[in-house]
Amino acid sequence: EEPSHFILTVEGLTVSFDGFKAVDGLNLYIAPNECRVIIGPNGAGKTTVLDLICGRTKATGGSVRFRDMELLKMREDQIVHAGVGRKFQTPSVYEDLTVFENLEISYPKGHGVFGALAFRRDAAVRDRIRDIAEQIFLDDSLEKKAGLLSHGQKQWLEIGMLLIQDPQLLMLDEPVAGMSVAERRKTAELLNRIIQDRSVIVIEHDMSFVEDIATRVTVLHQGKLLSEGSLAHVKADPRVAEVYLGH
Ligand code: ADP
Repeated sequence: EEPSHFILTVEGLTVSFDGFKAVDGLNLYIAPNECRVIIGPNGAGKTTVLDLICGRTKATGGSVRFRDMELLKMREDQIVHAGVGRKFQTPSVYEDLTVFENLEISYPKGHGVFGALAFRRDAAVRDRIRDIAEQIFLDDSLEKKAGLLSHGQKQWLEIGMLLIQDPQLLMLDEPVAGMSVAERRKTAELLNRIIQDRSVIVIEHDMSFVEDIATRVTVLHQGKLLSEGSLAHVKADPRVAEVYLGH
């Protein structure tokens, strides 16, 4: 069998809540270096799809293959370990710790007490923290308490806390919610850099931001795929217009 070109292959993904199909037979094929944006009206099933992929919600049917692993058979922590990072809508950083410490605490640790001691002294870890801090525009704020950052900077820090774990797939739920225009622009820059060596799935409502980041767009409606392709393609799809006008 030919190895799949896709980093993530979702087929027939389904979940029912008391007989209601929130996600209904969804197929999704994510390529390496892709930024896939999922759009759709409220209640379309966007968040549930990410919850199913990261193991937070158990699927009723289908399969989710990530590299050579079946994620539907794995626990949430195993999925993180396998290289899938998930960021939720509200930033959750350790407010009383500095930016440096937030990144340090997120660095994958070796097992046992010696691993934990060794990692703290490791110059390579410090270099990695500085490298990530630069990517997330916080290299001047390493010693600042995370609680003192702007809302947008906290969102970046949380992305940094995922990046330091070196995930091959990153899933972000409305990453620019509450950000200024300037912060949105920098977030687009950050995502465009991230997909140089990873894939990203983003749930997003802001169409100008979608235009800046998406390699492909998937439109969900009532748990099913409604339309897929470039942003221009899905925008021109009459079924998409119908769904958005209906809401
Ligand atoms: P979106 O992110 O596109 O707004 P969601 O994935 O949050 O949509 O929700 C899709 C549908 O599934 C909604 O009707 C929501 O009420 C329902 N739903 C989501 N999670 C649960 C759950 N744990 N139990 C019952 N219904 C749920």
